[in-house]
Amino acid sequence: MSTLSLQSFQEQVSELLLRHRSLLDVLSKNGQSNASVIRAVTKAVTECGCIELHATKQTFEPGIDLEQAKEVAGKHVKGELCENCREAVSSELGRNLFYMSALCNLLDINMDDVVQRESQKCSTLGLFNLS
Ligand SMILES: [Zn+2]
Repeated sequence: MSTLSLQSFQEQVSELLLRHRSLLDVLSKNGQSNASVIRAVTKAVTECGCIELHATKQTFEPGIDLEQAKEVAGKHVKGELCENCREAVSSELGRNLFYMSALCNLLDINMDDVVQRESQKCSTLGLFNLS
């Protein structure tokens, strides 16, 4: 299976982007699509019920290794997304990526570079880059 690069996705979005050429329009659509991702996850909890949220305080001890930290840090999620909710959340994430890509196009930012730099930061900062 071939992987679609962010660059080619970005070019594809650029070609489709006739209606949303205004920066303000794209900015607000980006915010809206982000809220829709949150909404889809929320609905999986409150309307479908395939996942449950059990939130408690997260505590991290300094000096523990990655595996220990993973065990201590609760995900607060019980269960797995059902097929419908997975589809809904994935679809909203895609929409969100579309507008993020559109924003990058308007500001002449390359998404592959963004991912590359963030990945670099992650490997430099390591384990406690949690925020
Ligand atoms: Zn569900």
